[in-house]
Amino acid sequence: MARPWRIAWSGTARYRSPVISVGQALRAVLDATPVLGAERVLLSAAAGRIAAADVTSARAVPAAANSAMDGFAVRAEDVATAPARLRLIGMAPAGTLLDTAVVPGTAAKIFTGSVVPDGADTVVRVEDTEERDGTVIVQVPVRAGANVRLAGEDIEPGAVVVPAGGVLGAADVGVLASIGRATVTVHRRPRVAILSTGAELVEVDETPGPGQVVNSNAYTLAAAVAEAGGEPTVLPIVRDRFEDVRERLAAAAEADVVLSSGGVSVGEFDFVKEALDALGVERRFWKVAQKPGKPLTFGTRGQHLFFGLPGNPVSALVCFLVYVRPALRRLSGHRRLHLPAVDAVLEAPLKKASKLTEFVRVRLSRGPTGWIARPWPTQSSGVLTSLGGGAGLLVGAAAVDVLEPGRSHRVLVPSPETLACEQPGSEFA
Ligand code: AMP
Ligand code: MG
Repeated sequence: MARPWRIAWSGTARYRSPVISVGQALRAVLDATPVLGAERVLLSAAAGRIAAADVTSARAVPAAANSAMDGFAVRAEDVATAPARLRLIGMAPAGTLLDTAVVPGTAAKIFTGSVVPDGADTVVRVEDTEERDGTVIVQVPVRAGANVRLAGEDIEPGAVVVPAGGVLGAADVGVLASIGRATVTVHRRPRVAILSTGAELVEVDETPGPGQVVNSNAYTLAAAVAEAGGEPTVLPIVRDRFEDVRERLAAAAEADVVLSSGGVSVGEFDFVKEALDALGVERRFWKVAQKPGKPLTFGTRGQHLFFGLPGNPVSALVCFLVYVRPALRRLSGHRRLHLPAVDAVLEAPLKKASKLTEFVRVRLSRGPTGWIARPWPTQSSGVLTSLGGGAGLLVGAAAVDVLEPGRSHRVLVPSPETLACEQPGSEFA
């Protein structure tokens, strides 16, 4: 992709950089994001992973025609009219095979999952019969083929049971087990190094002194990476010194993705961009026309991705959700990269940042006719509680200054919990 905005860093140029739109920034990220190679994992570790190749079944499932009911295996023509009296030739509990065939005028006692004996093509439910003196009396006429699960009715030999790019859910994992696959080839998960920069930062178990803050971003980002299917590694806090930042980033560069937070703005102690430059990371962009998270930088070196996230806790997480999460999903082989969204009606008018795409933190509730979005009272980029508890991100377009109430707006939903229901549907009555 063309990058006319790449600039040299010198003198006042330090502050100059084209501001690109959210859409441009997201395209720049995804254009530069590869899909990782494959690895084989045990089925027990496969949930949520992405199949790296089509999985084709060598077997039929079910392997043989079997009974869907406890009852009697019969020939259809013998039970077309009722009552019908048939001689019992034997019994086949599930897991056993009957060695005699069902011939005209006879029946075999079978159970759910029992293989339908040779000669039989229909199963009569035990509830529709009466067993007496070595015979069974079928009391109702039975349709030909009733209660028989045919061989290959679920999976035919040669069928693709999981396509390449498919997300392995519980049913898919079960399907793989049903065809005897103990392992499955999936895309590798991205390894993500997380680096927090800031001279004011202390560890979570330290008591912050005056002017100090706990390094919460490392925890936020590690949790978000894990939720997105990546493997996070949290590095020690790095102070705002160019050499330290450069060295730590150099050591982190083995990871598929490096996420730094803080030190990416225009302050005198913001060294992340220069440190990335010094490491030969090709800068793709720096500033994005968005709120929160305007100072966001992204670059690449080979196949490795480097995100310099802003330090403000909300900005860091919003930038993660909008840019990093889709990149991690692409790396992991996902085809659906972006956050799920709902349309919601805004409760009250909202003045937004002019000319910037604004991600407004809202709470969603279910109204009589659909979702309702209530803006969180504080939209400061330091107020991380605004993003907690199942918050949504209402997307205010750059071209709009005031978001109208009563109108439908697109709300990104970072956590599936937001859409979980307290009550089952009334259809359950
Ligand atoms: P910066 O982007 O480095 O200018 O930081 C912006 C704001 O975010 C400052 O108030 C920092 O104290 C805060 N901040 C930076 N890094 C972190 C972090 N790892 N955890 C929590 N807050 C941070
Ligand atoms: Mg800082």
